[in-house]
Amino acid sequence: MTPQRFDELRANTLAGGDLLSVGDVAECLDEIARLAAMVYMPGVYHCPKCGFVVHKLIVNANTGNVMMRRHCDDVCPNDNTPLEPSTWEMDSRKMASVMPELAQLRREKRERGEHGVAVY
Ligand SMILES: [Zn+2]
Repeated sequence: MTPQRFDELRANTLAGGDLLSVGDVAECLDEIARLAAMVYMPGVYHCPKCGFVVHKLIVNANTGNVMMRRHCDDVCPNDNTPLEPSTWEMDSRKMASVMPELAQLRREKRERGEHGVAVY
């Protein structure tokens, strides 16, 4: 399904137009799954209450392959809140929020003469 077709079906539905056919619904679900795969970080889950983050990886000992779990039923070890999938945007904002602190740590190390220490 193209994004334009998705937008047409969405606009038609919101305007109270014709009901979607089973095929249209199936196409929409496929499109939603495709978009969700681009939004969520594979295997990364967080607690919406305290910010705890966990990476859920599956390592195959025989092949050495690493796979990510698609679903997580775990709860936060801090407050028992169900964990939710983390998005790329959340990760980007979190990294941006800690950059000033990292830059300060780097300045302090430089002032102490601790060269060659990467703080990124
Ligand atoms: Zn928590």
